Amino acid sequence: MRRTSNNRQNFRCSFCGRDKSEALLLIAGIDGHICEVCVDQAVEIVEEELYGGKPKEPTTSSEFFMPEDIRPKDIKTHLDEYVIGQDAAKKFLSVAVYNHYKRLQQGVVDEVEIEKSNVIFVGRTGTGKTLLAKTIARFLNVPFAIVDATVFTEAGYVGEDVESILSRLLQVCDYDVKAAERGIVYIDEIDKVARKGDNPSITRDVSGEGVQQAMLKMLEGTDVNVPPQGGRKHPEQKLVRINTKNILFICGGAFDGIERLIAKRVNTQVIGFKSGDKTHRVDKENLLQYITQQDLKAYGLIPELIGRLPVLAYLDPLDLDAMRQILTEPRNALVKQYKRLFELEQIDLTFTDDALTYIAEQALEFKLGARGLRSICEIIMTDAMFELPSRNDVFQFEVTRAYAEEKITGSKMMVMKLKAA
Ligand code: ADP
Repeated sequence: MRRTSNNRQNFRCSFCGRDKSEALLLIAGIDGHICEVCVDQAVEIVEEELYGGKPKEPTTSSEFFMPEDIRPKDIKTHLDEYVIGQDAAKKFLSVAVYNHYKRLQQGVVDEVEIEKSNVIFVGRTGTGKTLLAKTIARFLNVPFAIVDATVFTEAGYVGEDVESILSRLLQVCDYDVKAAERGIVYIDEIDKVARKGDNPSITRDVSGEGVQQAMLKMLEGTDVNVPPQGGRKHPEQKLVRINTKNILFICGGAFDGIERLIAKRVNTQVIGFKSGDKTHRVDKENLLQYITQQDLKAYGLIPELIGRLPVLAYLDPLDLDAMRQILTEPRNALVKQYKRLFELEQIDLTFTDDALTYIAEQALEFKLGARGLRSICEIIMTDAMFELPSRNDVFQFEVTRAYAEEKITGSKMMVMKLKAA
């Protein structure tokens, strides 16, 4: 047996007739060839005939089983260790993930097939959307990839094809197709492919609707031919087939301005529905909690796409308290990280309460969500991290509000940069 060489002869699989150009691999025998698909099928037949349908040796790395005793509440408890607040989103995600992986283990029983529960997160930037998705994937020990919807365009335009969403997933699990087929993909900035305006253009679509269309089948579950390296830079690469039926897709977006659409809808409803004398009170500070699929449609997502993302969860904007907690409480909170760094230099690092409040206030001002905390802490800590390792007479270092303020106001350029971000 040998692999076919690259000469010009037109070889075909002697079993299915597939041409060499369509096959990933064509193995040559004495008087014929076989492609990788037929090899797989042949293995199945051998297993069926000789081993009663069981794989000869179970593959361990690719197999995934959710531990028997894990319940949605346990998933949420785990999320609580890493993500502050966002209770509603955590609950939605825990249930969706639990059902998704239950469904994987269950298969089809009595012709009832449990449908896939892809998720869509709506919430301002830096409020924990990606963090939730990342944390859940780590908990389940499944491959996880983050992709940005804005780099995809409809075939024919400059940019990547939606298939390359799966290239990232393949890459993170070292091209283990079976593992990828149980993974989680986080598609960020889904709001950026919303249709602009209500009239779909007849001539050409540059507004993202084409991208939404292209994503439909993949989200639902189908065989996708994936360029292993992604993009279009390697037109000669052989495609890898991935079935997306069991891949959990989580989409996220800030949906700037969607509050206006929600307000419009909620206000009309409130006028329409009075229960007794009481009008329902609407919490104007956090309108996202009233979001429905209707609002996503009004924003410009096509109904078919919304239908394939049945779990809709919102994230609360972070307030001062939440910001402060994010600094200190999560398992790998920023303050814990800095403390550890200083410990390595035998220095005991502390932050006063009002220094933490000041950092949280600054982060709120920059409107980058919790993402801003890191940059602010870096500005405050850089001098100390630069100076102290060369001194051997300092064993304690306290960051006070005055110290933090001095560093922030003293580095105007950095602050301007942050503000522009
Ligand atoms: P986005 O909502 O834009 O996807 P991310 O999840 O990427 O935001 O958050 C950016 C960073 O901010 C995270 O890496 C994390 O450190 C921090 N962060 C954001 N929200 C939270 C939260 N609710 N709890 C803890 N950390 C958070």
